[in-house]
Formats: sequence, C-alpha cells, structure tokens
Amino acid sequence: WHDRLLGGFRKTSDRLMGNLAGLSAARLDDAVLDDIEEALIASDLGPQTAGRVRARLAEGAYERNLEELGIRLVVAEEIERVLEPVARPLVVEAFPRPQVILVIGVNGSGKTTTIAKLAKTLVDQDYGVMLAAGDTFRAAAIGQLRTWAERVGVPIVSGAEGGDAAGIVFEAVKQATATGIDVLIVDTAGRLQNKRELMDELSKIRRVLGRINPESPHDVVLVLDATTGQNALNQIEVFKEVAGVTGLVMTKLDGTARGGVLVAAAQQFGLPIHAIGVGEKIDDLRGFDANEVSRIIA
Ligand code: GDP
Repeated sequence: WHDRLLGGFRKTSDRLMGNLAGLSAARLDDAVLDDIEEALIASDLGPQTAGRVRARLAEGAYERNLEELGIRLVVAEEIERVLEPVARPLVVEAFPRPQVILVIGVNGSGKTTTIAKLAKTLVDQDYGVMLAAGDTFRAAAIGQLRTWAERVGVPIVSGAEGGDAAGIVFEAVKQATATGIDVLIVDTAGRLQNKRELMDELSKIRRVLGRINPESPHDVVLVLDATTGQNALNQIEVFKEVAGVTGLVMTKLDGTARGGVLVAAAQQFGLPIHAIGVGEKIDDLRGFDANEVSRIIA
C-alpha cells in the first residue's frame, strides 16, 4: 500500500518541492533561510515546524554538497519528529466491552465514510462491530450509514430522522452489550453552524454513555478534511471545546496539496492521529508510519 500512500501525498509533496525549488542556494544566508521558512509555511506545515527547520539549517545541519537533498532531509526529519509521537492507531482494549467510539466532525468531512472504513478495518481484525446512527438531523446520513453497515456486514441501530440521538445511543449500547459486541462506533451530527445545540446534543450523548459506564465514550475521534487546510486547525480548536477530542482522523489526503496540515495539526495539538483517509473506497483508510510519511512528503 506504499504506492497508494505515495499517490495520496503526491500533490502535497509536489507543492512543497515546488515551493522549495530554487531556494537551495549554496549560501544559506538570512534571506534564503527566510524564503525557506516562508515556503514551508506556505505548504501548510505550520510556523513551528518551519521555524525549527530554519533553525537547524542555520546551525549547519545542511550538507552543503547535497544541495537540495540536504534541505529535504532536514524537512523530512523535522516532519518525522512531529509525527512520530502522534502516529497512534486506535486500540481495542476496553473492558467491559463494548468500547465506544464517538465520531465527530463537520458535515462533509468524510465522517460517515470513515466510520465505514474503520468498521471494516476492525472486522478484518476479527472484532465484533456495531454502528449507531446518531446523526439524526439528516435522513441522508442515516440511510448512508445503513448502506455502509450492510456492505461491511455489521449490525446498526438507527431511528427516524429528527429522533433523539442520545436515545439511539442508549439502545445501541444495550444491544451491543447483550450481543457481545467489541466496538460500538457512534455517528454524530456535524452542524457546527449551531455550536450551542451541537454541544448540548454531544454532552447529552456523553451523559447517557457515562451513566452506563463512566469510562465511556472511550474514544472521541474527530474527522477532519485535509482539503480545508488551515480551517481544519480551527475545527480542532472548536471541537476540543464542544466535545473533547481524544484523537484525529484526517481524510482526503489523496488529491489535495494541503496534506502539510497534518503536520501542523500534530505540532499544534499533539493529539493522536489514528489513521488517514486516502480515497473513497472502503479500504482507503490507513494507519501511518511517521518515517514513511515524512519521507514521502519531503
Ligand atoms: P460526512 O458528511 O462527514 O459524513 O461525509 P461523507 O462520509 O459522506 O463524505 C463526503 C464525501 O467525501 C464523499 O463523497 C466521500 O466519498 C468523500 N470522502 C471521504 N473520505 C475521503 C477520502 O479519504 N478521500 C477522498 N478522495 N474522498 C473522501
């Protein structure tokens, strides 16, 4: 799958290299270092990572005879340094079962698709998975999740459009417990336009879960669309406040030149990044290796 990942980050990498092109002058004076720093920020890698690369180049980490490759190596090393501590897969470890994973994110971020992909990944590892259609605001969301559940072959608990999300979640936990399900994945509404309502709804779901098991939800996974670039960083901020976030999945890294935002998010928030989406198909969710990704990007 290295090729798919390579394809996924191709545009991000091309953009970064395009921005760096011509900047690998033999003399790394302040003006050139400024340009390199700017190029990295323009590639969405974030000011901290850009600043560290600049500092390392200024220190002489740059191998003069390697020219452009020297800069790329330093960039790749810095990206790896940022991604290494956050590259952490979701682990199924809750006892008693089920482990409850609340999936949050704005509409269109790829939340439903990611839930399906995650369910498939866990089923492939022989876990018993159930879905709960907690986004009751959009009839389409419920239908879409049902279709995915059928395709992946996992049970789903859903209700009518406009129904009480917390009630559905309660029912789902009951059924999951009764049938020995390992992992319950809960879809939620993504209407960030109405922050107050969304916050109320998510805290109601959390209260219901917490009454059944104080450890639940075990994971609160925020799905982010990489194509929104810096906007994804604002979403982390808001969802942290609205719902609490324990980990991230970044989608649509295929076909965007803005994949650098993955690095900025890691640097700024230090939240675990569980997986990345590199396509629309069911198998297009990938855990990632910080070393490999850093070498692909730079
Ligand atoms: P939701 O509204 O957040 O539930 O978003 P959906 O799961 O319905 O996804 C919105 C669109 O993004 C759909 O057309 C998906 O096929 C697409 N999508 C989701 N994840 C990815 C991904 O990793 N790569 C690409 N290229 N498309 C994706």
